[in-house]
Amino acid sequence: MARRNDEHVIRGACHHDCPDTCAWDVTVSNGRAVELRGVVDHPVTRGQLCPKVNRFLDRVYHPDRLLTPLQRVGPKGSGEFTPVSWRAAIEQIADRLGAVGSPEAVLQYSFDGTQGLIQKGIMADRFFAAIGASIIRRHLCGVTANLGAIDVSGSRFGVDPENLRLARTLILWGTNTVLTNRHLWPTVEAAKANGARVIVIDPIKTPTAAHPIVDEFLQLIPGTDVALVVAMINVLEREDLLDHEWLERNTTGLSDLLDSARRMSPEQAASITGLEVDRIERLARTFATRRPAAIRCLIGPEHREHGRDIMRAIAMLPAVTGAWRDAGGGMARSTAVYFDTALGPSDDLPERPAFNMARLGEVLTDGDRIEALIVHNSNPAVITPGQNSIIEGLSRDDLFTVVIEQFMTDTARYADLVLPTTTQIEHVDLVPAWGHLYLSLNQPAIEPRGEALPNTEIFRRLAVAMGLDAPGLVDSDEEMVRQVLESDHEWMAGITYERLVAEGFTRLNVPDLHRPYVDTTPDTKDGKLRLGALEYQPGTETAEGDPALARRYPLTLMSRKQHVRFLNANYGGFEEHFPRSGEPKLEIHPSDARQRNIGDGDRVRVSNDRGSLTLSASISDDLQPGLVTVPFGWWHRSTPERRGVNALTNPTVADDDVGSAFFHENLVEVSLVEG
Ligand code: SF4
Repeated sequence: MARRNDEHVIRGACHHDCPDTCAWDVTVSNGRAVELRGVVDHPVTRGQLCPKVNRFLDRVYHPDRLLTPLQRVGPKGSGEFTPVSWRAAIEQIADRLGAVGSPEAVLQYSFDGTQGLIQKGIMADRFFAAIGASIIRRHLCGVTANLGAIDVSGSRFGVDPENLRLARTLILWGTNTVLTNRHLWPTVEAAKANGARVIVIDPIKTPTAAHPIVDEFLQLIPGTDVALVVAMINVLEREDLLDHEWLERNTTGLSDLLDSARRMSPEQAASITGLEVDRIERLARTFATRRPAAIRCLIGPEHREHGRDIMRAIAMLPAVTGAWRDAGGGMARSTAVYFDTALGPSDDLPERPAFNMARLGEVLTDGDRIEALIVHNSNPAVITPGQNSIIEGLSRDDLFTVVIEQFMTDTARYADLVLPTTTQIEHVDLVPAWGHLYLSLNQPAIEPRGEALPNTEIFRRLAVAMGLDAPGLVDSDEEMVRQVLESDHEWMAGITYERLVAEGFTRLNVPDLHRPYVDTTPDTKDGKLRLGALEYQPGTETAEGDPALARRYPLTLMSRKQHVRFLNANYGGFEEHFPRSGEPKLEIHPSDARQRNIGDGDRVRVSNDRGSLTLSASISDDLQPGLVTVPFGWWHRSTPERRGVNALTNPTVADDDVGSAFFHENLVEVSLVEG
């Protein structure tokens, strides 16, 4: 820790739902944080933060920051509140939770407002387990893609993203790396400098697809990825590019896979995907022969009903070419599994009723079975599909709602009590990553502002007020960090609390050139990667394939993460971060705009049976005909309807246990707003 006069520097880490988990240093002078800088010697984040977080201190000291508990005094949604003491707030919550008809009538709703293990959930989860509350499955994304990878590999392990520098073929598949995983870009550039061919596969010409170092961009029709993969395998067999020795030794199910592949010629795939035959063939050849060959996948396929099928298909490619043989070859996805493995299972909490979080609106409006809702680390009125039904549920007079927040969000406006919570520079946390292998300790740089409390302290106080005596409910934040670090897994050897206090971050002890399916055996029964039949199912491009519906709503809406200064709903209500245009826009292809007499900048209505939004149009041939986009994350005040894009998205999930939300495939129509 460097000190200069009255200044000192405290090391921490970004907590946002972003793969990069940047290390940062906070300079504090006279108790006030005066500077936040990236840590230059972090091997991945290298001193850079991002436009979202560069002004994080403005957020900490923002005049709209919630600094006292608030009690609602106006109608739900009005935003009319009056300050109340912590004591009164805690007593009221304890009384109300103690008076519900059954423990399951209390619902905990939380997500990735922070990725720090301590403030995200450990104490909160212990509290809700102790009272027997219902919980949500935190499955808006991720899970479908995880399952697709597990279908093949038995596990979620992939290439350490740092090792992608070794790749000579690097396919960025459904990931806008320069925007949403920006600290991987120097690795992509290093691979390029070493001779890699960089290929982007995406339905939209993103800034990544348009980047000058990208050798080839394949703009496929959304949701047709499986057809592309099957045709690539067709080409690989036809041109004798399968790695038979590897396949014999390390896989099962090849003959069924090849039966499927023989039924999908590159010509057929071309008509399905919109890609040219020779580009499909070249992609297959390049991936098989220019090695190490790696695929980088992140969010794109996760937000689709058939995301599991897409990821299962993509995961077969490195299995059939033996790409996993090479350090830097294979597939790189979220690295969360490395931390889950190294740190071990968290508390062993009892089973309770659980709902997929995408179904919140349905759960809240299904009679009165949920009597009390406690929201922390989330803004479901913005991030969750089915926004209109969520608002209907939050408006129930008989629903007691508590929201733990830093700002008066669209969800908080419907709360009975809003409890002010600390920001990342005001509390302790332990932050894993999903884009690299470095574990970070975040130390508090300043005292909590006003009366804000860490989430953990709020739940400790509630536990005391409710007379709960389950184990762990009085543990301090430091004790919880030490408990997490107690793992005896080899990847945690030598990683102690004291070391993290001294260094701030450290890499898990995963061997440098670890090859997940060569150095270790796949987590399948027979230790082999699982191939098998792989069929493209026509009509799976959209989750709403009903032809009658498609006639009424002929366009497909993607709600994508496209803002430089937003991260999910964080900053979506933070005017300092609004783009210069100051409003969300509907992107539409020129041909679709022409058919509807829409000009650039015109006011348009985008609608379906779930809702409608009035936005200004942005005409762009970065999209394909038939596709429109509205950015994810804007708060309700950004439109005249006081709703965001999730007023249009489908809250259905394919499977309540393991389904993700369908953010990328909702049918809509767009019309010009006259006058
Ligand atoms: S949001 Fe991501 S890129 Fe930005 S500072 Fe946080 S971890 Fe780094």
